[in-house]
Amino acid sequence: MGSSMTAAQPALVLGGGIAGLVAARELAAAGHAVTVLEATAEWGGCVGSHVVAGLTLDSGAESFATRSTAVADLAAELGLAGSIVAPRPGGAWVQLPEGPRELPKTGVLGIPANPWDPEVRRSLGLLGSFRASWDKYLPARIGASAEVTSVAALVRARMGRRVLERLVAPVVGGVHSADPGLLDVDMVAPGLRAGIREHGSLAAAVAAERSGAGGRSVAKAGSAVAGLENGMHTLVAALLQHLRERGVTLLTGSAARAVKRTSDGWRVTAGDTTYDAGLLVVALPGPAAVGLLQDAVPALAGRSPEKGPDVRLVTLVVDLPELDRRPRGTGVLVAPQTPGIQAKALTHATAKWDWLAAAAGPGTHVLRLSYGRLDGAGPGGETAASATETDADLLAAALRDACTLLEVPVQEQDIVGWDVVRWQGALPFAAVGHKARVAGVRKLCAAEAGLALVGGWVAGNGLAAVVTDTRKEIRSLLT
Ligand SMILES: Cc1cc2nc3c(=O)[nH]c(=O)nc-3n(C[C@H](O)[C@H](O)[C@H](O)COP(=O)(O)OP(=O)(O)OC[C@H]3O[C@@H](n4cnc5c(N)ncnc54)[C@H](O)[C@@H]3O)c2cc1C
Repeated sequence: MGSSMTAAQPALVLGGGIAGLVAARELAAAGHAVTVLEATAEWGGCVGSHVVAGLTLDSGAESFATRSTAVADLAAELGLAGSIVAPRPGGAWVQLPEGPRELPKTGVLGIPANPWDPEVRRSLGLLGSFRASWDKYLPARIGASAEVTSVAALVRARMGRRVLERLVAPVVGGVHSADPGLLDVDMVAPGLRAGIREHGSLAAAVAAERSGAGGRSVAKAGSAVAGLENGMHTLVAALLQHLRERGVTLLTGSAARAVKRTSDGWRVTAGDTTYDAGLLVVALPGPAAVGLLQDAVPALAGRSPEKGPDVRLVTLVVDLPELDRRPRGTGVLVAPQTPGIQAKALTHATAKWDWLAAAAGPGTHVLRLSYGRLDGAGPGGETAASATETDADLLAAALRDACTLLEVPVQEQDIVGWDVVRWQGALPFAAVGHKARVAGVRKLCAAEAGLALVGGWVAGNGLAAVVTDTRKEIRSLLT
């Protein structure tokens, strides 16, 4: 190590999810001696992996948004440029109370760029498309005023109830596991309200976003997401290798449990060990981050965000050649009011990713069903229900739901492997007003020398948002 490196203050990162690892990379690049503390035995947080029926699969995030080049740039810097893949073009479906429809491909959060697009019309009906087209004639201030609103309030005001229930609720439920009536539009679709003011309507704002006004598009035209060959978890493996090569100390099984201010920095206790550092980056889920910092920064008291939903993923690996024809494209999002279906989404992973179809072999399929959505009743009810549910209950529900959604009998004897992954409160809950609360918390932390707060709950859910925001925050911490 050169003398400039030893001169830099030691830096400590709490949390080994993608935010923590990206932060560590920026800090190491600036010459700091970096230590990362991760509570569990695994790196990557929500970008995890698991092995089912001999296949190594993503257990959490499995793709990234291509509206910005943030994730693709990071992957390229880590030598993974050649591994970036687009999903199969077939697209996804939405399950409505009256049956399945193809999900329009040109939306943002399910909001259509053109209400008269034939796919949109099939989901909305003539009246629904007609109502949605009023958006074009409404004054730009509707839904774009200074007042904070939910995703539902914005969509209902500009495009009507049908767009909300049939397109937006299924997509938002699939991505954020919450009802659009609960979510802060500025957090889950940043820039959309500004887009209405700039382009005159919600549809035009969506069209501008989809055409990549914000930057180059990395995937094939029309696809809003991309993935990595062999799974998103390979990004974590590449990051870890890069950090090891740069001498970063990576410690698992090290849950931070106290943070104190010292005369020249920060002192963190994890287990029986204390760590002193000049720079502290907190890359934990919101409630853990605020809880841990409260002693050192008392003004944070009472500012903890709400815990997110409990998401359960049931993965089924089945020998079922009937699925080779990909009956529902890459998968199905379920409209919340659809009777008889508990899942909020089904991903037909072997229909979505060619590399996985090749790994599984002909006739073998990977289905991933997700459960858990915060509804209008708020977080409490949903969490209480999920606590009593066993893996066997979830397997039974997954088989039932897969049969209905794919219109193919999927039975216990077809299964070659299955498992359940539970993500408890891992998805941040961006309740209306979250953006303002986060800004308040960040302001308080920015006033503390050598402290930065990163992660999905401050950046917005999703890898694209987290990578962009983390890099920006660490660069500003370093200047
Ligand atoms: C099931 C699921 C599917 C998803 N799918 C996608 C997708 O397809 N595309 C996409 O873009 N995004 C997806 N996301 C969202 C995306 O994964 C997250 O936004 C992102 O990974 C969050 O990263 P993070 O580092 O902020 O948080 P996390 O990944 O939650 O990392 C936080 C880390 O902190 C650790 N930790 C907690 N407490 C302590 C402590 N006291 N001390 C030390 N360490 C601690 C945790 O163990 C964890 O490793 C998905 C999320 C989930 C849950």
